[in-house]
Amino acid sequence: MKKILIANRGEIAVRIIRTAQKMGIETVAVYSNIDRDAPHVLMADQAVCLGDNPSSASYLDGEKIIKEAKRLGVDGIHPGYGFLSENAAFAKLVEDNGMIFIGPNQRAIVTMGSKLAAKEAVSKYNIPMVPGMDRAITDIKRAKEHALDIGFPILIKASAGGGGKGMRIVENSEEFEEQMDRAVSEALSAFGDGSVFIEKYITKPRHIEIQVLSDSHGNHLHLFERECSIQRRHQKVIEEAPSAVLSPELRAKMGKTATEVAKACDYVGAGTVEFLLDEHKNFYFLEMNTRLQVEHPVTEMITGIDLVEQQMLIAMGREIPFRQEDLNIDGHALELRIYAEDPEDNFAPNIGKLERFVPPSGEGVRLDSGYVEGMDIPIFYDPMIAKLIVHAKTRRAALKRLLEAIDEFELLGIKTTLPFGQFVATHPAFVSGDFDTGFVARYFTPKAKKKHLRNEAKLAVQLANYLLERNEKVLKVP
Ligand code: ADP
Repeated sequence: MKKILIANRGEIAVRIIRTAQKMGIETVAVYSNIDRDAPHVLMADQAVCLGDNPSSASYLDGEKIIKEAKRLGVDGIHPGYGFLSENAAFAKLVEDNGMIFIGPNQRAIVTMGSKLAAKEAVSKYNIPMVPGMDRAITDIKRAKEHALDIGFPILIKASAGGGGKGMRIVENSEEFEEQMDRAVSEALSAFGDGSVFIEKYITKPRHIEIQVLSDSHGNHLHLFERECSIQRRHQKVIEEAPSAVLSPELRAKMGKTATEVAKACDYVGAGTVEFLLDEHKNFYFLEMNTRLQVEHPVTEMITGIDLVEQQMLIAMGREIPFRQEDLNIDGHALELRIYAEDPEDNFAPNIGKLERFVPPSGEGVRLDSGYVEGMDIPIFYDPMIAKLIVHAKTRRAALKRLLEAIDEFELLGIKTTLPFGQFVATHPAFVSGDFDTGFVARYFTPKAKKKHLRNEAKLAVQLANYLLERNEKVLKVP
């Protein structure tokens, strides 16, 4: 592979280009009109405009991307995450046109893209699963009986669901029918597939996922866990590796189970097997994501392995150059997703212009960003603008580093999840490691927000510095 096209935008496109450059691989960026001056476009060796701003007219237009890739003599296409990354038809189109899809085979994408098909595929392997139905609900009466057997609360889930969407908690049997109707119509409108099933709602679970790497020579390895329990709307905001609560034995067991899931679908490439861990440390398979995850950097920080580089080498047919026993956990890493959202207003999108954007730097601080100062955050795409990642010897030191980095971060013009990061990193439950996916609902209450998020003093200092700098420029002060 000498030249790749990155079918994505923002921080992940920048991230992939960086590794391609390190490996001496030429890069082609794609962009929509509004992204014409974005960092990923400026960084790549070549760039092509796909068209109008809506994703359907640009980053999701697979045929156009293939056409441009062929015209420019590209050997491989990296889909990043989101957009076309889990689209088996696109992966096939890439291969039918004589290029390499930097991701797994189509069968793995199809199987793992459906939560029900995924459960079926792994059922032969004795992998623990959340109690529930293993097929889509067609008969509501029978589903209700099943729910009574499992015991309320239960969760109705869309088989084709993703991104935390298409889930409804049902507290008791009286509201079963109503929630079912809502879940089916939501699944239909969001995913074009109304198949839903039920699962036991695990109370106080932790979200623990395992990074796997598989090559085309039949090797399946795991790169330990990431804990992603700090979520809003069932979507992750803060991730860490390793988890504060896994013993070496449990880690090894979950890691082995994850590689079995990978084996079950003949997986090739980098993937993530997600589990829920209950209060008694029982773990249950949730789903597998057949792509690079947003939170992959925390794994890179603790293992020293460049996952994008491994993806490319595996796509070229190479064997993974290390074995399971060569891998070790070095220190602790945390990631804060910086969303253009207002945490005080229920994490509502808060787009606008990045008036000031001076990220922190220094030892153990990494910033993966798709934006620079002066840019507008477009409404067309995901509101995540950057990821702040820190690494240190211990969890305590990593928390301290994260707080210092947030403090140092100068960001004006839009509301973001930076102050939320500060709230979490100083909260006794998070600091002690005693938390679960209910953290936000339990602790991020209106009263707590008021107390912790009043950050005016810091903002005032940043604004004063910014104005001073701008005035000095205008006045040409040496
Ligand atoms: P998606 O594909 O939409 O991301 P997942 O199945 O991965 O959906 O679940 C996302 C999150 O939803 C989990 O991290 C967890 O917080 C919550 N969740 C999912 N299934 C359950 C369950 N059975 N019990 C409790 N929480 C759940």
